[in-house]
Amino acid sequence: MTTKLFINGEWTSATGGSIATLNPATEEILDDVGFASTVDVDAAVDAARAAFNSTAWRDLLPVARARLLFRLADLIEAHADELAELETRDQGQPLGVSRTISVAGAAEHFRYYAGWVTKIEGRTSPISFPDTHHYTRREPIGVCALITPWNFPLMILAWKLAPALATGNTVVIKPAEQTPLTAIRLVELAAEAGFPAGVVNLVTGDGSTGQALVDHPHVDKVSFTGSTAVGRSIVAGSAASNLKKITLELGGKAPSIITADADIDAAVGGNLAGGMLNSGQVCAAYTRFYVNKKREAEFVEKMAAGVSGMKLGAGMDPATQLGPLVSQRHLDHVERMVTVGRAEGAELVTGGSRSGDVGYFFQPTVFAGVRDDMAIATDEVFGPVLSIMSYDDDDDLQDLINRANDTDYGLAATVWTKDLEKAHRLANGIRAGAIFVNMPPVPDMAAPWGGFKTSGWGNEMGPYSIDAYTQVKGVWMHYGN
Ligand code: NAP
Ligand code: MG
Repeated sequence: MTTKLFINGEWTSATGGSIATLNPATEEILDDVGFASTVDVDAAVDAARAAFNSTAWRDLLPVARARLLFRLADLIEAHADELAELETRDQGQPLGVSRTISVAGAAEHFRYYAGWVTKIEGRTSPISFPDTHHYTRREPIGVCALITPWNFPLMILAWKLAPALATGNTVVIKPAEQTPLTAIRLVELAAEAGFPAGVVNLVTGDGSTGQALVDHPHVDKVSFTGSTAVGRSIVAGSAASNLKKITLELGGKAPSIITADADIDAAVGGNLAGGMLNSGQVCAAYTRFYVNKKREAEFVEKMAAGVSGMKLGAGMDPATQLGPLVSQRHLDHVERMVTVGRAEGAELVTGGSRSGDVGYFFQPTVFAGVRDDMAIATDEVFGPVLSIMSYDDDDDLQDLINRANDTDYGLAATVWTKDLEKAHRLANGIRAGAIFVNMPPVPDMAAPWGGFKTSGWGNEMGPYSIDAYTQVKGVWMHYGN
């Protein structure tokens, strides 16, 4: 079954062959999934297009569409343990993370957007034409390609699929090649929930499969989460084809500021959670730390003690706090970044190497004495590597803001302080889509998620996703002579 693609309500053989997905904790092949060629992508887009035009979907009353989404949320919950295990095996994240964040987050997303279905409204417009009524409708965009990364495969797919369906679009899903299994299972559950054939389609494959969707003239929108490099190529591909609408959630390099008055123990706890969740494979992960010189020694010591106490191991072991990295390729990248950090003169306080011979494990790592221009302070590591820097003076917040903003990224940032004035000044000054004061980075379906600068285009979640998956139509109705 899994070597097949889901097209027009049926599991169909992939014409491009198959592609293996591994368990990153054991390096064993978990499964082979279908490799979609451009022929398969064409078929999936055709199915989504036909479903978009079909009365079975287009004329479904909002209450009925909402019910489908509620049912899918219930099915996710009913299969929560199975989905969590599948996510842990395929992606590597500890079971507690997949159960309480990935699966729970996915279910709540469907429920939240199910609630929206019956609340999407238009407006009347106070136009200056006699005897003319003007109103707006929010209409679905059409066929949406949902292209997702490997760090939170199920949850990030839910961030896209729930609002896309709530607003009446049809979709073709393309999961990351390293972690396709929970997307496949979710699509099975969507079929069980009763979505009409062709509304939800799935093509597994690699980057070329995603590229075929981006280039396709009958795809109306791409919602993409992944690297900034691929994000740029999607913009170029869209511009060269049919100017499809685009939402991009891209990379990050979140700064964390710890002021002189901060509660250091709370800051250590929150920054460990924010920096090490999913072994740092989080776009909003706290990665570069600016701590007031007066508290630097204490912060470095406690962060190092905190990470060295974390249990590294297979996600299926309930004691595990840090799982493996997703792939050999990603492990090599993290290792390379650490080597560069050492060569550039940062002080390695703890960690710094691979762990074990089997599985893609990397020790949680803390660097101190980092300079702003070092690669570990500027480039995305996307692993369990924390870079600590210091600053001199809490009275010169502008200098600190400038340093925090000296990056092309702008997804998230955090501030640890007991001083409300500093918190507000820093929150206002830092250019990022989400600022977390005295807390780890958490997504919530009611709050916008999106990047400033090269971290993205547009927002997901809350009412912002309703806007992202709809377009406005104005209707002019002349009723005079
Ligand atoms: P990626 O390499 O950009 O891949 C993301 C997705 O795009 C995968 O499904 C990938 O397929 C596909 N893809 C690759 N090349 C493509 C192309 N030319 N056209 C269309 N699709 C293509 O990113 P990743 O390495 O999976 O994920 C890590 C990155 O995602 C990090 O930079 C991280 O910061 C970012 N991220 C951002 C957020 C956010 O909310 N802002 C959340 C999570 C992750 P294959 O996997 O098969 O190549
Ligand atoms: Mg895998």
